[in-house]
Amino acid sequence: MSDDALQDRPLELLRRLLRFDTSNPPGNERECIEWIGGLLEALGCEVRIVAQEPQRPNLVARIAGRGESPPLLLQGHVDVVAARGQWRHEPFAGDLADGYVWGRGALDMKGGVAMMLAAFMRAKAGGLQPPGDVILCLLADEEAGSPLGADFLVREHPELFDGVRYCIGEFGGFTMDVAGRRFYPIMVAEKQVCWTRATLRGPAGHGSMPIRGGAMGKLARVLRVLDRRRLPVHVTLVARSMVQAIAADVPATLAVPLKGLLVPALTDRLLDAFGERGRIFDPLLHNTVSATIVGGGDKVNVIPDAISLSLDGRLLPGFGPDELFAELRRLTGVDMELDVVQYDPVAGEPDLAMFDTLAGALRELDPSAKAVPMLLPGVTDGRFFSRLGIQTYGFLPMQLPAELPFMQLIHAENERLPADAVEFGTTAIARVLERF
Ligand SMILES: [Zn+2]
Repeated sequence: MSDDALQDRPLELLRRLLRFDTSNPPGNERECIEWIGGLLEALGCEVRIVAQEPQRPNLVARIAGRGESPPLLLQGHVDVVAARGQWRHEPFAGDLADGYVWGRGALDMKGGVAMMLAAFMRAKAGGLQPPGDVILCLLADEEAGSPLGADFLVREHPELFDGVRYCIGEFGGFTMDVAGRRFYPIMVAEKQVCWTRATLRGPAGHGSMPIRGGAMGKLARVLRVLDRRRLPVHVTLVARSMVQAIAADVPATLAVPLKGLLVPALTDRLLDAFGERGRIFDPLLHNTVSATIVGGGDKVNVIPDAISLSLDGRLLPGFGPDELFAELRRLTGVDMELDVVQYDPVAGEPDLAMFDTLAGALRELDPSAKAVPMLLPGVTDGRFFSRLGIQTYGFLPMQLPAELPFMQLIHAENERLPADAVEFGTTAIARVLERF
């Protein structure tokens, strides 16, 4: 198959992208990035390759606009996580079968990269003069925390993004069924990583002489409380707009308890009542910590005087580590040292100015589309661009069959994307490029 006019065949473009094994580690994005660079150069684009390590390059290309709007950034990562487990189709073959494109990265996020790239190439090939410059930035290393990708670019080459206010990236724009109604959550904010080490101390001693209330006892208390209770409820602006937008469009039997989630005195009881169905709302209404690694003690007959506990903390927009630590101490009642291991701050409240443009493009393609702003419990490369004052929207439009276990397929075996989703998303993004 030739590389000609791949912008008109985004499905084929995706299948080609899937055949580059960009499993990270080690990443090896170079071949994939160079192939994309060649496609863009063939259309007359000037391509910049920016790399900290030669095998791990990032690509930046630009279409000049009319200067009426600030430049719009399209960013996506081409690396993927390792393909483990049993696959029905080889993970790096780009197979098309049963109406799906199969392969590692189909959802996260070569599907999205294919949409952005095809929309960008269409604009270039069609001679579009968009309202402002359009910058396409394809990144390495997202799955390993982006030190060679977005983090590197934002630190070392911020001038590439001068004047950019808004960005399209992962994660959002896919359909989500609630009570038979089809919503399109568009990510407008993400939670903040706040990895923390807790140190619990107590008297050391000989194992033959038990100690109560020591470091082990404190560890037990912390883990027990975290297993049973939540940190306090906080209703942020973005969580409120997300819940209200969904509640406005579902039957009252569901709308009433949904709106109740926004009343802090009721939130946790309603979440318990929703059970598994309410699970997605839980992290949107609390700062959270998950205990992940325990370290301490090295001899069976010595009671240790210190134990360390790693906590994967995630903060709501507008909160910082000190507030999380105060909440943790209050909830557990345990005296402990808390140290930040990594904190990736994200700007406070989202700037929703572009939301209606995105929602409008969706509605044209799917008249029943109801776009809702979404707060993401996880993180994307958007957090690095937010350091430059850039607002990211997670907007990779896909219509997904209600029965497709979308969230469970990401980073898992048999990752796949409905074949017609690629054209749908490409068209939606192409329309945004005409009118942002
Ligand atoms: Zn991703």
